[in-house]
Amino acid sequence: MAEPLTPDGEPGILSRQPAQCVLWEKPELLIEGNCLDSVEALIDQSHLGRSILKCRECGQPYFFEFHETVDWAKGDDHIYWTFIPNASRS
Ligand SMILES: [Zn+2]
Repeated sequence: MAEPLTPDGEPGILSRQPAQCVLWEKPELLIEGNCLDSVEALIDQSHLGRSILKCRECGQPYFFEFHETVDWAKGDDHIYWTFIPNASRS
């Protein structure tokens, strides 16, 4: 399984290989941006975000979660991205 990286170098999770989606083979495109369109924002908070995204190239929908842990003592915050393909709200 390929492990995409968040902008600060943390590993991310991309589960269940979606057929034909370029993001599975080239997760670095996630960092470069401009490969996913936002379909719907579900949660939009400073340290937690969840939304439905769609691949611009093939239309594959993804459930996306952004989670930032907060280290109040050392400021060593970590950012995690999770992409789950074939998501729906049903
Ligand atoms: Zn795709």
